[in-house]
Amino acid sequence: MNHPQQVRYLLRLDDACPTMDLNAWTRIEALLDRHGVSPLVAVIPDNRDPTLCRAPADPDFWARVRTWRDRGWELALHGHHHLKLTREAGLVPFNRASEFAGLPLGLQRSKLAAGLTVFRTEGLEPRLFVAPWHSLDHVTLAALRQVTPIRCISDGLALRPFSRCGFRWLPQQTWTPTPRTWGFWTICLHPDNLGPRDLEALDSFLHEHSAAVLGSLDELLTGALPSSRGPLDYALGALILARRARERGKHAR
Ligand SMILES: [Zn+2]
Repeated sequence: MNHPQQVRYLLRLDDACPTMDLNAWTRIEALLDRHGVSPLVAVIPDNRDPTLCRAPADPDFWARVRTWRDRGWELALHGHHHLKLTREAGLVPFNRASEFAGLPLGLQRSKLAAGLTVFRTEGLEPRLFVAPWHSLDHVTLAALRQVTPIRCISDGLALRPFSRCGFRWLPQQTWTPTPRTWGFWTICLHPDNLGPRDLEALDSFLHEHSAAVLGSLDELLTGALPSSRGPLDYALGALILARRARERGKHAR
């Protein structure tokens, strides 16, 4: 391999659903294709979140998701309806809002099973779970175990993938394409909200770093992972949470 081993990036595209902004997604698809990069896409199985209704529902949406799968893009089950049902922050405390954390096991099970059924009806099998607003709890993990084969979560604050509670966690710590010196970084992007400048920034980032972007998650989904996080992971987590809290304070003013 012709790139340094110490840093790896995963690109994650959030909030794919039939009412997404098709032009925005087409632009980012073209950009990623140009750089030969495959992202993880968080697909909402049955969106009811009005803020994600950017266009009339696309009847070809699921056919498009299958083309993503066919070109090697990884798919994640992104909740169920993408609705804020509780004010629980859960295990990854970015937001006090959740579609799952705080709900009883039976309800979490039925929501996950319903979401998975939508994928399977469309001939698709998600290998990861992405909780809306990063919020999931131990009950969500139990429900995932009971009604899905999914054993990997794209979330968590750490510098490398780790295993916890019988699940693989691929940490997700950043929302901008910023070069790093080492570690595993998931860059979460919301294509509906990316302006021309954001796309330019992503383009120049990929120009330099596309070789360090993971093409396939196979190894991470099957290989051995460290079972604990160390002091550096916790320090990074505290830093990111503090920065997010500061940014939120700024916006509130
Ligand atoms: Zn979302």
